[in-house]
Amino acid sequence: MSTALPKLTANYIGRFAPSPSGPLHFGSLVAAVGSFLQAKSQQGKWLLRIEDIDTPRVQAGADSAIMHTLEAFGLYWDDTVIYQSQRLARYQQVFNDLQQRGVLYGCQCSRRDISLAGGIYTGRCATLQLTTEPLAWRLKAQDVSTQFNDLIFGTQQIASTLAQEDYILKRRDGLFSYQFVVVIDDMDQQITEVIRGADLLSMTTRQQHLFSLLGQSAPRYGHLPLAVSSPGQKLSKQNHASALSQWPLQHSLGAALHLLGHPVPNTLSAAPVTEILAWALQHWQLAQVPVTTEIHCSAFA
Ligand code: GLU
Repeated sequence: MSTALPKLTANYIGRFAPSPSGPLHFGSLVAAVGSFLQAKSQQGKWLLRIEDIDTPRVQAGADSAIMHTLEAFGLYWDDTVIYQSQRLARYQQVFNDLQQRGVLYGCQCSRRDISLAGGIYTGRCATLQLTTEPLAWRLKAQDVSTQFNDLIFGTQQIASTLAQEDYILKRRDGLFSYQFVVVIDDMDQQITEVIRGADLLSMTTRQQHLFSLLGQSAPRYGHLPLAVSSPGQKLSKQNHASALSQWPLQHSLGAALHLLGHPVPNTLSAAPVTEILAWALQHWQLAQVPVTTEIHCSAFA
C-alpha cells in the first residue's frame, strides 16, 4: 500500500456563485475566469452555485443562460449545480440554532429609518426583544474582526462601523439574506478558497465571523478587481451592461484575462477559446492579478 500523502492542492475546492438576475455579463465573466483558473491551476474542483435566494430579483431562465455561456467559454464546473432556493430547510435549521443561542434579535427598522440614521444600522432594536412579525432578524456582530488577510490585497482593514454592524440574516419579507446563506453554502460545500469580485471584500470579516460562530474554519478569500463603467459603477445586469453575446467569445475572454493581469499573446487572440483558456491555465498566477478594486472597461459599459 502506498504511504504517499495526496497532494494538498488536490483538496482545493473553489466556486463560482452567480445570482441569476440576468445573463452572464462581463463583470461576472471576470469572476468566473479568475476563480476557475485559480481552482484548476491547483488541480482543484470548481463548483457552480446558483445564488437565487433573492427571489424577486431572479429572472426566469437566467440560470440556464449563465450555464450555457460558461460552457461556451469552456468553463466547465464539477459536481452537481447547487440552487439556494432548494436549501431553505437547511438555512432555517441553522437560523433556528442561532436563534436558540440568543445571538439574533428582531428588528422593525425600515431601510428608510436606517438611511436617515446614516446608512449603517446601529443596533436600535437590539434590546427591545421584539417578537411580533414582520421583523427582520439581525445577528449581534459586535465581536467581528475588522481585519483579514486577502490573498490578493494582503492585510485589509474594514471600517468597524461596517464590520460590526448587526446585519440581517432573515429579511422582513421572510427571505434569508445573501450574507447568511453564502456562509452556510460555502461551509456545506467545503469550499477551501473563495475567489470573487472586490465588491464583496468588505463583507469578508462578517462571513469569517459567522463561520466561527458555526464552529467551522472559514475558507481563504481573494478578491478580484471589478470591471466598472465609471468609478464606483459596477458593470452589472442591473445597470444594463452588455450581454456577452454581443462579442466574439475570444474577445470577451481576452478582455477578462487582460483585466486579470494575464494578457493573451497576439498569436492567440483569434484562437478558439479552449486554446486561450489552456494558455491561461499554464500561465495563471494570482500574484499577477492587479491589486486594485476597480478597472474601467468602457468597451463593455
Ligand atoms: N452571488 C454574488 C454575486 O453574483 C456572489 C457571491 C459570492 O461570490 O460570495 O455577486
